[in-house]
Amino acid sequence: LEQVLSRMRQAAAAPMEYAAQWKEKTAGRVIGLLPMHFPGELAHAAGCLPVILQDDAEPITVGQSQVFNFYCGFNRSIIDQTLRGVFDGIDAIMFGDHCVQLLGTADIIRAERPELPILFNQLCTTLDANWALRETTGTFIQLWKELEALTGAEIASDTVRTSIRLFNRNRAQMRQLYDMRRKGLVTISGRDLQSVVKSSMVMDKQEHVDLLEQLLADVPREQPRRSDVPVYLSGHMCHAPKPELIDMFEECGARVVNDDLFVGWRFIHADMDEALEPVDAMSHWYVEKNQRLPCPTRTIKGADWEDYLLAEVERSHARGLVILMVKFCEPHMYFYPEIREAFEEHGIPHLLIETEHEEMPIEALKTRVETFVEIARRRAADKAA
Ligand code: SF4
Repeated sequence: LEQVLSRMRQAAAAPMEYAAQWKEKTAGRVIGLLPMHFPGELAHAAGCLPVILQDDAEPITVGQSQVFNFYCGFNRSIIDQTLRGVFDGIDAIMFGDHCVQLLGTADIIRAERPELPILFNQLCTTLDANWALRETTGTFIQLWKELEALTGAEIASDTVRTSIRLFNRNRAQMRQLYDMRRKGLVTISGRDLQSVVKSSMVMDKQEHVDLLEQLLADVPREQPRRSDVPVYLSGHMCHAPKPELIDMFEECGARVVNDDLFVGWRFIHADMDEALEPVDAMSHWYVEKNQRLPCPTRTIKGADWEDYLLAEVERSHARGLVILMVKFCEPHMYFYPEIREAFEEHGIPHLLIETEHEEMPIEALKTRVETFVEIARRRAADKAA
């Protein structure tokens, strides 16, 4: 188990080192993907390694002059890493445009790496428009062609089907781990769970599937401490919260039973329909995403994030909600008032923590989290009495 986790931790902590090793071994191409909506399946079927670009722990230095201070930490880190040459091993990049800041980041990458092939296909944001499915299918067909042009080889439908099956399997394995953890059947720290999901965004899919098979067999079947208070973690778009933050929740007596984080349940919660033609499977997977788990960067009538969270907190038997908001993340900020109002109306304890790329005052936050855990514990006891 330790060997499996250690391999995943390494890939999660140093994605570009992993990608460089993969490239040396396979002579294949590495494609950087911006989160959160483009599936990696097509790039995988093209024989490439799709790597979702991650922020790193380094302070923003050379990138500082290129970017506004009110860009979120993820954007600033991606720009800084581009300027530091961290992404030099990438052979092409797939841009997303799901928030205004990312468009600025895309421009800087373009200016800094003019030779880098860019696959920039805009996915529609209004997912329930009557043209959304047609438009999305067109976008994926276009991306398919661009990948063929990049690699100089045809991508057969059956190859994409195989990639979809493999990615589905990988997501299902991680959901199984989540389910076992939610039910209190296994013990795995939040930090390690994050490494499992984060490494799946980076590693060769078959290698990750094999490692997870071993992990699922070996993960200790233990009961969590009864005194821990179950909580639900929400938010944090595009990149993982700092592992020290997750450690701190656990030190304060909280047990995270579920989440909707991008480096978490949001990334693994849904599969593509293997019975459909591959391009249709991808299109349906995309346009139906907000019906399954609302994303603040997309819109759809009648599927509200706060309703999803209320239902999920109950389903997970969580006693409270912790909202992790990336500082300056506009899409999240617009939705927060609705979430707060809904949780206040239902009398469910909730706590907002704004996260930063730079050093965070973990000790000061600890007091707030301890108080929150105590409130959630007492509220649950009062309800049971
Ligand atoms: S974390 Fe928020 S602000 Fe930053 S890139 Fe993602 S959606 Fe945009």
